[in-house]
Amino acid sequence: MIRFDDVSKRYPGGHEALKQVSFEMARGDMVFLTGRSGAGKSTLLKLLMRSEPLSQGQILVGGRNINRLSANQIPFYRRRIGVVFQDHQLLYDRSVFDNVVLPLQIDGFERREAARRVRAALDKVGLLDKEKMNPIALSGGEQQRVGIARAVVNRPTILLADEPTGNLDPELAAEIMHLFEQFNQIGVSMLIASHDLSLITRLKHRILTLDQGRLINDEQHPSRHGDA
Ligand code: ADP
Ligand code: ADP
Repeated sequence: MIRFDDVSKRYPGGHEALKQVSFEMARGDMVFLTGRSGAGKSTLLKLLMRSEPLSQGQILVGGRNINRLSANQIPFYRRRIGVVFQDHQLLYDRSVFDNVVLPLQIDGFERREAARRVRAALDKVGLLDKEKMNPIALSGGEQQRVGIARAVVNRPTILLADEPTGNLDPELAAEIMHLFEQFNQIGVSMLIASHDLSLITRLKHRILTLDQGRLINDEQHPSRHGDA
């Protein structure tokens, strides 16, 4: 599903944020990406979204070299990828419903089908009763759930999250991770950047660790499949 081959990234100015990173993720995998602040986690996700160009190596997604996508293919590529941000990036001049429907409007969905999908997504994150509210009136955990509903509403095959629990207390953080596990169980491939080691080690998924741009550890959790 996702393959990095010897990927390096040097930002203008000379800083090498990723150094010869190689790994592979299969369809339906759930993988955490960890490492200290500045280790290169966000950079890796940005390369995958094609919001930053890579300097060396290649990234294959579904067998396609994403650096060879032409400018007009990139929006189509991005639609297959849902993204959840730490600060959720919600719009506070409109309702929860209107935030979540945005990706579908961009895709040109007919109103009724869009509304049906928005409600299905809000139902999945447990916020069906809040669709008319302004997100500013919601708690931090609820706002993050709106961000997740918006990220999944057009049914991406891949969901990326960059420190999605960074602003949440431990209990809410665990709930958000549990929600990600539910999307993973319906087949969505998940790559989640988080520096919260105590939380992610408890969840028993594969963990990739970056240190100063290098992938220094790739820890599998094969026991996961035997767990109830
Ligand atoms: P993390 O997400 O693990 O905190 P980042 O990927 O944000 O790490 O950053 C990795 C390194 O790249 C850091 O040293 C950071 O300062 C640098 N960096 C990130 N973005 C830029 C940028 N746009 N221009 C120059 N350097 C950057
Ligand atoms: P419906 O088919 O009525 O849209 P589902 O129960 O299949 O309802 O899905 C509800 C919501 O869950 C979807 O709107 C979407 O947000 C999310 N979802 C379902 N399947 C997937 C999938 N394969 N990938 C990503 N998100 C999905």
